[in-house]
Amino acid sequence: MFRVLNRYMCKVTRIIAFVRCLLAAPGAVPVRGRLLQIAVSLVIVGGVLSWAPVIAASPQVTDIRVGVYPGKTRVVFDINHLVTFKSFVLPRPYRVVIDMTEVTWSPKLRNSPTGGLVKAMRFGLFRPGASRVVLDSEGPVKISKAFVIPPSGQSRSHRLVVDIVKTNRQAFLMSYRRPNRKSVATSAPRQSLVPVPLRVKSARPDAKRLVVIDPGHGGVDPGAISRSGVWEKHIVLAFSRELRRALLATGKFRVRLTRNRDVFLRLRDRIAFARRAEADLFISVHADSIGNSKVRGTSVYTLSERASDKEAGALARKENKSDVIAGVDLDDQSNDVINILIDLAQRETMNESAIFARKLVDELGKTRKLLRNTHRFAGFAVLKAPDIPSVLVELGYLSNPTDELLLRNPRQRKRMAAAMSTAVEQYFKRQQVLNKP
Ligand SMILES: [Zn+2]
Repeated sequence: MFRVLNRYMCKVTRIIAFVRCLLAAPGAVPVRGRLLQIAVSLVIVGGVLSWAPVIAASPQVTDIRVGVYPGKTRVVFDINHLVTFKSFVLPRPYRVVIDMTEVTWSPKLRNSPTGGLVKAMRFGLFRPGASRVVLDSEGPVKISKAFVIPPSGQSRSHRLVVDIVKTNRQAFLMSYRRPNRKSVATSAPRQSLVPVPLRVKSARPDAKRLVVIDPGHGGVDPGAISRSGVWEKHIVLAFSRELRRALLATGKFRVRLTRNRDVFLRLRDRIAFARRAEADLFISVHADSIGNSKVRGTSVYTLSERASDKEAGALARKENKSDVIAGVDLDDQSNDVINILIDLAQRETMNESAIFARKLVDELGKTRKLLRNTHRFAGFAVLKAPDIPSVLVELGYLSNPTDELLLRNPRQRKRMAAAMSTAVEQYFKRQQVLNKP
């Protein structure tokens, strides 16, 4: 056993020495070529380790530090296991993205460090198998170096180091347009909204209706964060599971969640999920946060080109930013999600959405304080499925201490879920009556 382990460790040491040698010889190979070689050798090291007869736990990022030096900002990730990574920049707004093998994050990393050229930082699961860090940068920047330092001396961690330097807009665009800038993680098959044909109504009218619940945000996009540090992505997932339980308990519906773990989903993927599943109803669940901590109450939103009021418009713009927050390169995609132009086919669906929204308001009003003008309209991208009645529920305000307490309380969540389940029942009962010959 020890002999086998020893052999593997020798291999690992040789490869690490090779990486070190590459790093120690600036100018010997152009930086991009060198990074490529390092990436290749990291894959090899990863491969060797995965064959080693030692079963390693999934890698964890144990610490993140931002160091400000003359002319550069250095971001260091301590990781207890070797990972492969890739880094690139994105414009509008200026961002640096670091994709790596799926990792977990130490619970002590709740407040991400910032400093120098790093204005803000987010991290989380981008898709199964790939984690992502997004840095919002102060103006156009360039990644001058990105490398891994293997454990040495006192440190048992692998240190992933990313150096960022200021650049000008033109140089930024040049590096952004490099042909190989695309991340592996973002090159998953595109699911456009266009090719899915409009749905023909279910051939079996007796079949159980399918409700798709969409817990907002997730993974690298945390959503709103309360003052005490509660994240919207966690609250809405807990609530969505509660709502699923309530709906299933009626015995009348099938239920699916767009996500059932802490992972990011693009807005268009949420819609595509519902359309592929042939959902009869789509409920996106959120919990907002605003500057005024006195505002509280539940509100329900449906799609419209023009917002019903200023706040609803601002909320839609905020929720539509999810893809930008998660470091999705919008230049790779057509604008069909963000573009809220509504065609005729969508009008009937919108009427249905509004009818369901009113039922929700009636039922939720029996259990909980509502925001004034509870049913509002705005251009929410996630509500754009042309053939599925869709609503977005803001359960409450994480910025309000009372709302936050209610949302954190499982009993209160259960009450709200029961009210929403009743609204779903009534909505489909009405449809049944209308469809009777
Ligand atoms: Zn939200």
